[in-house]
Parts: sequence; structure tokens; C-alpha cells
Amino acid sequence: MKADQILRDLGVEAARGDYAVHSPVDGAEIGRVAFDEPAAIQQKIVNSVTAFHAWRQVPAPRRGELVRLLGEELRANKEALGRLVSLEAGKILQEGLGEVQEMIDICDFAVGLSRQLYGLTIASERPGHRMMEQWHPIGPVAIISAFNFPVAVWSWNAALALVCGDSVLWKPSEKTPLTALATQALFERAAKKFGDAPEHLSQLVLGLREAGEALARSPRIPVVSATGSTRMGKALAPAVAERLGRSLLELGGNNAMIVAPSAKLDLAVRAILFSAVGTCGQRCTSLRRLFVHESIYDSLVPQLKSAYASLPIGSPLESGTLVGPLIDKAAFEGMTHALGEARDQGGKIAGGGRALEDKFPNAYYVKPAIAEMPEQTAIVCHETFAPILYVMRYSDFDAVMAKHNAVPQGLSSCIFTQNVQEAERFVAAAGSDCGIANVNIGPSGAEIGGAFGGEKETGGGRESGSDSWKAYMRRQTATINYSDALPLAQGIKFTV
Ligand code: NAD
Repeated sequence: MKADQILRDLGVEAARGDYAVHSPVDGAEIGRVAFDEPAAIQQKIVNSVTAFHAWRQVPAPRRGELVRLLGEELRANKEALGRLVSLEAGKILQEGLGEVQEMIDICDFAVGLSRQLYGLTIASERPGHRMMEQWHPIGPVAIISAFNFPVAVWSWNAALALVCGDSVLWKPSEKTPLTALATQALFERAAKKFGDAPEHLSQLVLGLREAGEALARSPRIPVVSATGSTRMGKALAPAVAERLGRSLLELGGNNAMIVAPSAKLDLAVRAILFSAVGTCGQRCTSLRRLFVHESIYDSLVPQLKSAYASLPIGSPLESGTLVGPLIDKAAFEGMTHALGEARDQGGKIAGGGRALEDKFPNAYYVKPAIAEMPEQTAIVCHETFAPILYVMRYSDFDAVMAKHNAVPQGLSSCIFTQNVQEAERFVAAAGSDCGIANVNIGPSGAEIGGAFGGEKETGGGRESGSDSWKAYMRRQTATINYSDALPLAQGIKFTV
């Protein structure tokens, strides 16, 4: 099915505008959109504040009802939206559907959460006093998202922000505005069924980086949640900090796996394949660094190379395909450059290079690459958003843990081992320094129930499950005096 038909089915009027959207599947134009002018963005911000003022007064469980309805729309339209994700972002249909499932899951989570925005009651040191902590809605939340999870990232933020009583403004990647338009249309259907949701509760802001910058700079937006490259985060965070706003950053990763001597190799190989070549290596949690114990290196690496040689590369919409295209030409050039660097730094490369060029001359399919590296060189420490797996040998556990942590990023990590001591050490305080640390599971494909995010250049943000909701609210400590006296804290006497 064509993109315009899917968009119509999802309730999006034929998109018109100057900006052409191309599918990474074959390079064809699949739609046009109009970007927001700076004045229109400012008006949307004002509208978002007005919507917030109404929404914050709606009881949280009732707000949950809107998110429940959104989840229902997503359930009913999972196939269509998942297909549009495949067409616009190039991920295989299974992953496109998985992305929509993640949206459904976070809606379910948020509905439950809408009755659990708990605060604490704290013992007061003063007689006849009660102290309590409350969580209040904070204000409009800006969501800036990357191309590779074009819709799920919005839902991780928006489902929570909406039950927390905030309005949302979404600046999607300029590479994936159509899936954003479709998601917004589904939100509007849910809002209509809900009945009395304020106008402008969720709005789209379309544009290039300047549109994101306008949101980052606006003092009317207390929280800016931004997902994308570390380069973007380094530009955005100072703009938000300058006005003392709160930023929630989900940036680049450089995720590793350690395969220990006792590992179940068949499981490790499957986990490596899914996490290193899935989404054509364009997940923030993609596996990029593989440390293999020297005792099993000569058994694991040849197995991996032969699995790589038979990977089904092709249109992400065809069943059986496991590796779809890169997003665009720049991504292909980035991969080629990184492989050149790896070679110069002593690497032995298998794979790489363009695939299916005859069939898809205007798209960028590649052969996933394995780069056997003599050590963790400069290029290995850099996130290249493409399917390159750097493989290194190790002999000593302490030394490999040190290497594991010696990169600027800190998103996801894992170890394959049957040795309980190694497993526990990996997740202990002196183990992996990442936000996500798995044992006998690859680094990608997280569940929404846990808090998602990472340390160091990954930005420190946490989204999705656990208590991530607190980032979308303001904390208030309220002390109530129900006595007839006015005792001061710390026993201070202050009487005239
Ligand atoms: P990108 O940084 O090029 O763009 C991300 C978004 O930021 C886009 O909407 C873009 O328009 C906007 N933007 C760019 N510069 C900006 C600025 N100065 N101010 C405000 N907005 C700005 O990223 P991309 O190529 O779309 O996505 C790939 C990157 O995203 C990778 O580094 C990947 O690891 C990362 N990512 C991280 C996570 C995570 O949860 N940690 C998830 C997905 C992707």
C-alpha cells in the first residue's frame, strides 16, 4: 500500500508543502509537508500554555482515559501505522509493528500510572504539623525526536506527560514527518472520543533544527525532552540551561557485549545478529562493540561471519527481509568513512559496501560489516549510525570491563556468561557504567516497564517506565500547621 493511501486511512489530509519526504526503501517521494514559520511556532507555544492551564485541572485518572483511548486507536491502526514507519524510516515491517506495539504498551502503562502519581507524607519535627510531598503538572513539554524511532519516542514522552497533566509540542525528525502527522491524527481521534480535552493539547511543530531550537529557547516550556545525536544534545542542552529549563536527553550510544568463555554461543550469536544488524544498525541501542574471550574467539567469529554472509538484505516491506536500507546517502557515506578509518587503524573488514544498487539506485542498502580490531581504537569509540560491528579479543575480565567503560557514551551493555560471579560483577557498582546492563540478553529491544536512557554523552535522561514520570512534574513540599501555635523549624525562637 502507498504512503498517501495509508495517510488517508489514518485520517491525514493529503499533505501539501514545499518539503519533499523520500522513502529510504527506494528513494521515491512519498509526500510533501509544510514547515512551520517561526511566528507559527511561537503561536503554538502560546496555545500549548493555554491547553496546559485547562488540562492540569482535570483529575489524573480522567487524563488517563484520554491515553487509554489513544492506545485503542493505536491498537486499531497498528498495521497501517507500522507499515508507514517501515516506508518512512526503512525498518523492516516486523520492527515497524513492534514500534507501534511499544506505543500501545506505554499507553497501558500510563493509564495505570494515572492513578499512581504518589507523593510521600513526611514526619514533621513540629507538633501539630503535617508535611507532604505532592507532584503537580509542570507545563508544556517539548518532544524533539530522531528519525530511527519516529513515533515510539513521542509516545514514551507524551503518554506520561499527558497523564501528568502537561500539554505536549512535538518536533519530529525532518526525515520522518509523515508518521508524525499520522500519529497526531490518531491522537485527535482519541481526543474527539474523549470529548472535552482542551484544544491544542498535543501539537506538531514541523521543521529543521531551527524549529527544535525555538522550542529549546522558549521560557514557556519548562521541560524539553530531546532524542537524537550527541552533537544535537550538546547544542540543545546549553540553550535550555541558559533559561534554567529542564532538559531530558536521550542521545547516542556505543553499546557493547562481552562474550565470556562459559557463554551459550548459540544464544550469543542470535543476540548479536538481532542487535547489530536489526534496523540496519540504526538503533541507539545497536550493538557496536563485541569483546570475545580469546578461548572462544575462533569458534564464535567464523560462525558470525557466515551468518552475516547469508543475511537477507532487501525491501523492509517484503517478508523474510532482516536488513533494510540506511536512512539516506549521508548515512552511507558515514559508514564508508568509518570503515576506511577502521582499516587505517589496523582493522580487518568483512562485508560493508553497497547492496542492491541495481534494484534500488536511489536508496542505500548495505552489507553489514564486521571489523576485527587489534584494539579499541579511536573509530571504535565513536558512534557511527550504521551496521558496523567492531570485534575485539580479550583475556582478562578486569581489563575488558575497563575497556567496556572507556568510551564517551553510556547507553546499553550486556554480557553473555553462565558464571554467576561475572554476571553479578557486570551489573555491580564497579561494573558496566551504562543506563542499561543485561545478562544473557543483547543490548537492544528494551521493555517499556524499565526506565530507559544512559549516562555520560548519552545525556543522563530516563524515559518510559519505573519512576521516569517524575521528570514531567514539579515536586512540591507542603507543610500544614493544624495547631494553635507557630513553632519554627530547627527550634529557632523569634518573638517580639
Ligand atoms: P539528530 O541529532 O540529527 O536529530 C534529532 C532531532 O533533533 C531532529 O528532530 C532534529 O531536527 C533535531 N535537532 C538537531 N539539532 C538540533 C538543535 N541544535 N536544537 C534542537 N533540535 C535539533 O539525530 P538523528 O540522526 O535523527 O538520530 C540518530 C541519533 O539519535 C543517534 O545518535 C542515536 O543514537 C540517537 N538516538 C538516541 C536514542 C536514545 O534514546 N538514547 C533513541 C533514538 C536515537
